[in-house]
Amino acid sequence: MIKTVKSVDLKDKRIIMRVDFNVPMKDGVVQDDTRIVAAIPTIKYILAQGAKTLTLMSHLGDPAKDAEKAKAKAEKDGKPFDYDKYIAGKHRMAPVAAYLQKKLGKHATVVFAGEDGCKGKKAFIDGQPPGTVIMLENTRFHKEETSKDPKELDKLAKALAEYGDIFVNDAFGTAHRDQASTASIAKFVPVSVAGLLMEKEVNYLEPIVTSPKKPLVAIIGGAKVSSKIAVLESLLKNASALVIGGAMAYTFLKAQGKKTGKSMVEDDQIETANKILAAAEKAGVEIVLPVDHVGAEKFDAASKPVKIDNVNIPDNLIGMDIGSKTLEKYKKVLATAKTIVWNGPVGVFEFDAFAKGTEEVAKLVAETTSKGVITVVGGGDSVAAVNKFGLASKMSHVSTGGGASLELLEGKKLPGIEVTRARDCYIAGNWKMHMTRSESAALAKDLVKSLKSGKHKYMVAPSFTAIEAVGEVIAGSNIILGAQNCAAEEEGAHTGEVSVLQLKDLGVRTIIIGHSERRHAYKEDDELINKKVKLALKHGFDVILCVGETLEEREKGKLWAVCKRQTEKGLADVCECELSKVSIAYEPVWAIGTGKTASPENAQAAHKFIRGVIAKLYGELAAKHIVIQYGGSVKPDNAAQLMAMEDIDGALVGGASLKAATFTPIAKF
Ligand code: ADP
Ligand code: MG
Repeated sequence: MIKTVKSVDLKDKRIIMRVDFNVPMKDGVVQDDTRIVAAIPTIKYILAQGAKTLTLMSHLGDPAKDAEKAKAKAEKDGKPFDYDKYIAGKHRMAPVAAYLQKKLGKHATVVFAGEDGCKGKKAFIDGQPPGTVIMLENTRFHKEETSKDPKELDKLAKALAEYGDIFVNDAFGTAHRDQASTASIAKFVPVSVAGLLMEKEVNYLEPIVTSPKKPLVAIIGGAKVSSKIAVLESLLKNASALVIGGAMAYTFLKAQGKKTGKSMVEDDQIETANKILAAAEKAGVEIVLPVDHVGAEKFDAASKPVKIDNVNIPDNLIGMDIGSKTLEKYKKVLATAKTIVWNGPVGVFEFDAFAKGTEEVAKLVAETTSKGVITVVGGGDSVAAVNKFGLASKMSHVSTGGGASLELLEGKKLPGIEVTRARDCYIAGNWKMHMTRSESAALAKDLVKSLKSGKHKYMVAPSFTAIEAVGEVIAGSNIILGAQNCAAEEEGAHTGEVSVLQLKDLGVRTIIIGHSERRHAYKEDDELINKKVKLALKHGFDVILCVGETLEEREKGKLWAVCKRQTEKGLADVCECELSKVSIAYEPVWAIGTGKTASPENAQAAHKFIRGVIAKLYGELAAKHIVIQYGGSVKPDNAAQLMAMEDIDGALVGGASLKAATFTPIAKF
C-alpha cells in the first residue's frame, strides 16, 4: 500500500513536493496546462491542512540535451542561435510559477525561488510567510538530477531534502524515473508520501496487474508490437480477452499467414507475435484481431479511405484503421468486461479520415463506464485520442503518465511510487507439525471467513501434508499459502526432503526459512539457510527469513552479533532487486520457553537493530521498506501493543495461530 498525504499530519510542516510541470512551452508561454491543473487538488489540500511552506519542484524539458538539438537545427537551417533566449522560452520555471499563481488565485501566494538553481534555498524558503507556495527552478539544470551515479543523485537529493519535513511525490508522469527529485530525496526526509494525483493513478492502474475486477478485457493498439510486448505478457495473466488493434495488429495477422499489403509490419517481431498467440491459447485468453480494415494508398492525411471488407489487405494498400465488422466484434467482447484497460489507438487517429475506429472504440469504452465497468486509459497517444473526441470525463480514469502508466501495466515497480509505499503489516501463522489435513482445511475455512474484512497482509503455513487441502480452501481469499521449510536442492536423492519445485506445484507462494527450530533442533547453519533463501527467490517465492539469539548467546552478550550474522549470512548474494520479496522474522529464542519475557521495548530495539543491518547491506531506502515481523509468542492481548512499535511490522505467530479464535484477534488487532 502506498502512504498518502491524507495519512500524515501536515500542520505547520514544511512540505517539499515533486510535481510534473513538464508542460509544453513556447516563448515562455504555457501551451497546455493539463499537468499543472492535475496537481492543484494536492496543492490545495496541503495548504488547507495548514502546512508552513509548500515547495514545488519539477523538471521542464531537458535544458542541456534540448538546447544542443535546437542549436544543431538552427545551424542546419543557417539561422542564428541565442542560447539564453532559447532557455528562457523553453526551460525556465518562472512563467510556470506565474501560471500557477493565476490558477490558484486567492488560495495562495506563489513565489519563484530564482534562476540560480535549486540549491541553497533554505533561508529563502524559511523566510516566507506561512502558507506560501515556492516554485524552484527546473531541476534538470543540475546534472546530478538524472545522473546514473547514486552518489551524484544523493548530492542533489540531500540539498532538496533540506526544504521539507515531509516529501510528497505527486509527479506520476516521472514516477518511472529513478532520479534525485523523484526518488533519492526520500532517503533524506523523515516521511515520504504520495499526493492525491499519484494515489488516483496507482489505485486505478495497479489493480489491473495485481487483482482486477474480472473479467478484464484489454485493448492494445498503437504502432509497434516491440514497444508493447511486456504489457501484453503482463496482461495475459489476468485478462479474459486481448483486443489487438492499430498497426500492431498487422504483425499478428502476418504471423497468422494473412496478407497485410503495404501496412506497417515489424518482421522481426513475427516470432514474438507467435509466442504471444501461443501463450494466450495456453492461458485461455481470447485474442481478438481485426477482420476488416480501412486502407489507403499512401500514408497521408489527404489519402482517400478505402474499405477493405476482408481480413487480407490488397498488395497496394496500407491498413490505416479497423473496419465496421471488427468494431462489431470488439463491441461483443467489451460487453463481457467488468474492467477495461485501453493502451494504444486502433488506427491513425491523427488523420480524420482514419480516426473513426479509435473514436468508436472510445465511445464504446465511455458507454460501458456508465454501466459501472471500470475503464482505464493509459498511454500518451491514447489519452490524446480520448481528449480529441471529448470523452476523457466519461472514463473512470485517464492516466496523466504515458511511460509511467505503461511500466505499471507491465507490472514493474516504479521508483517514484516505491518510495511512498508504507510497510505492510504482515501477520503469518506457522502451524508447525500440528493438525491433520481435514483439521487444517477446517481452520483455513474459518480464517477465510474471519479475515475477509481484515486490513493486513496474511499468510498461513500448514504442514506439508496439508498444503494442498489448505490451498484449495484459501484460493481467491486474502490469505497467502506458505510453507514452513524447503530443501536446499531443487531435486535428486534427498530422502525425506521437500523441494521448492514441489511447493510451487502446490501453489505455495511464501517459504519460512531458518526458523529457530530448524536452526537449533535440526542444526541448520547460516550457509544452508542462505542456500535455501537463494533457491526460493530464484523460483519466485517470497521468503520469511528468521533470525534471533538463544538464551545462552544472549547471556554471553552476543545478542546483536547473532542477529547481525544471521541476517548478513542469510542474505549473502541476495541482490537489492530481490529484497522486496524478503521479510525478516525476529525470534527472541532466549525468551521462548525459558521463563524470561521479551518486552515490546526489547523487541523494538532488536527490530531497529536489524533494520540498521539491512541499511548497511542495502542502503537506507531498502531498510525503510523491509518488513520485520516479530516471532516471539504473540497473543491476542499483546498484539496491538507490539504492532504499535515503530519497527515491528507484523508477526510470525506459532501456537496462537492454531485456532481461529486466537489468530483472528491478532490478525485484526
Ligand atoms: P500510446 O502512446 O497510447 O501508448 P503508441 O505510441 O503505442 O500509443 O501508438 C500510437 C501511434 O500508433 C499513433 O501515432 C497512431 O497513429 C499509430 N497507429 C495506429 N494505427 C496505425 C496504423 N494502422 N498504421 C500506422 N500507425 C498507426
Ligand atoms: Mg505514444
